[in-house]
Amino acid sequence: MTDNIENWEFATRAVRAGQVRTNEGEQGEPIFTTSSYVYASAAQAAARFSGAEPGNIYSRFTNPTVRTFEQRLAALEGGETCVATASGMAAILTTCLGLLKAGDHVVASRSIFGPTVLLFKNILGRFGVDTDFVALADTAAWEKAIRKQTRLLFLETPSNPLSELGDIAALATLAHDHGALLAVDNCFLTPAIQRPLALGADLVIHSATKYIDGQGRCVGGAVVGRKDLVGGDIYGILRTAGPSMSPFNAWVFLKGLETLSLRMQAHSAAALELAQWLEQQAPVERVYYAGLPSHPQHALARRQQSAGKSGFAAGGVLAFELKGGQPAAWRFIDALRVMSITANLGDTKSTVTHPATTTHGRITPEQRAAAGIRDGLVRIAVGLEDVDDLKRDLARGLAAL
Ligand SMILES: *Cc1c(COP(=O)(O)O)cnc(C)c1O
Repeated sequence: MTDNIENWEFATRAVRAGQVRTNEGEQGEPIFTTSSYVYASAAQAAARFSGAEPGNIYSRFTNPTVRTFEQRLAALEGGETCVATASGMAAILTTCLGLLKAGDHVVASRSIFGPTVLLFKNILGRFGVDTDFVALADTAAWEKAIRKQTRLLFLETPSNPLSELGDIAALATLAHDHGALLAVDNCFLTPAIQRPLALGADLVIHSATKYIDGQGRCVGGAVVGRKDLVGGDIYGILRTAGPSMSPFNAWVFLKGLETLSLRMQAHSAAALELAQWLEQQAPVERVYYAGLPSHPQHALARRQQSAGKSGFAAGGVLAFELKGGQPAAWRFIDALRVMSITANLGDTKSTVTHPATTTHGRITPEQRAAAGIRDGLVRIAVGLEDVDDLKRDLARGLAAL
């Protein structure tokens, strides 16, 4: 089945990579809901446990449905191997536990997912791993923060909610020049638009909860990269500590991957159309979306983001600032009738959030100002509804101001 997978185009890999049919000849991938496996003999059991014979042992670390998902995602990211985890946060934790030890140093973008900041600062900090946070787009600041003990550089690009970009190729070179690794959280663009490994990154991390699922059903995550890293110490943490993905969730994500490319193109096209429209509206002070030529890093976006044959794409998340601060933002949000007020993203259903009072509500006003999160900022994760209905919804919100 998978003999010449390297030659397959992205969409073919998305639909077919990793599938191994059973003797039943099923067309769709089965869900293996089993915790353990039986062996033909005591000798075979011993060979499995010692690793002399490959095969299933126990579903904390070997499950055929999970493995199919891992192989398919690895094929899409262009990585040698993949470890699936119970959530996106579990993927980041598993990666860090696999790679870092007390005394190690991490340089991370300051514009990463809130719980990721807390994981580095509060949790790994207690175990003697020190993290410095720098401005994502300022490659010189990354270089300045690197020390002799730096083992890992960590970023998300584009950032949430302001769509700042990190230069993956430049930061990969920087990491390697200093004997460190670069990990990229690729949740916002997915391999359908951005493939960090091809740009030099060592590890790609996913919250499969977002676009890989694509319909807001399951929580899961994954890390993709070389066999010596992901198949070694990172897999070792999964096997021993057990932050594993359930076979049912793996099956949902597997089905999500099959339509990922089409969905990311549709999310991106609608987001671009809405971003362009918002830029023309008087109550809107500024739009943040890397697909717009007015974005300060638009050229970088065009260099490192591409939806294959359909060309440049910038994903489904955009933000904009309304004149009139928080009262205006809340009035706008409360007037919407199509979009859901929720902080999730990557769903078929469009969502709207007010970052200053939700996702970024627990940091101080000074920290918020430093992060560029102003009170009039509204974030939209554009779903797959008809873009005309979404535009009418935004017009409804603006009319309420
Ligand atoms: C949601 C998210 C995570 C965490 O993923 P979970 O599946 O919720 O644990 C990590 N990074 C980014 C960019 C996210 O949006």
